[in-house]
Amino acid sequence: MGKKILIVEDNELSRDMLSRRLRRKGYEVITAEDGETGIVKAEANLPDVILMDLSLPKLDGWETTRRIKGMSQTQNIPVIALTAHAMSGDREKAIDAGCDDYDTKPVDLRRLLTKIQRFLADGAGNGPYYKVIDGVKYDKGMLDVVDVAVKGQGDGRISLGDARKLLAQIKDANKYTQIEKTTMAYIRDNYKFTDEADTWIRAEIRKWAASK
Ligand code: MN
Repeated sequence: MGKKILIVEDNELSRDMLSRRLRRKGYEVITAEDGETGIVKAEANLPDVILMDLSLPKLDGWETTRRIKGMSQTQNIPVIALTAHAMSGDREKAIDAGCDDYDTKPVDLRRLLTKIQRFLADGAGNGPYYKVIDGVKYDKGMLDVVDVAVKGQGDGRISLGDARKLLAQIKDANKYTQIEKTTMAYIRDNYKFTDEADTWIRAEIRKWAASK
């Protein structure tokens, strides 16, 4: 059966166009024309992914996401924010509201499909790009790099070279989403770095988070 996508979008033309294009790709699509309906439909249908327009009448996309992420039944559903404004503050606000990723309108379908697929879970709750540990999603690729790095080092600490590799994986214009945030926190709290790698990665993450 096709994976379910909920589109929350007030603009009828955009909503219909995106629905058609996603249905053609084999997804089951549900739509909501405002935030309140979006919350109701998220709860009733438990979609695999939610595409959330941020500028909605009455309840905006940020608040709608906050409420969806505040309910236990729907808190793990990935939300991808969509906005016509490509301002960097919007991205930060969306991630803070609990959105898992962010994309700009008009929609580039190929890019959006990549983001959607990134969040689709298998039966065990793990997606092609993430791993769920105690209900929290982590970037699978990054954790794999950490495993290799730790096994390669005699003292189990991550070297500067491997720290660079880790960061290179996530450091591109379209990343630093919720998954990268949780993954970096997990790595920081559960693994040891060599002293030079530790200094370097902390400074890099600070710089990079500040620039987003
Ligand atoms: Mn809108």
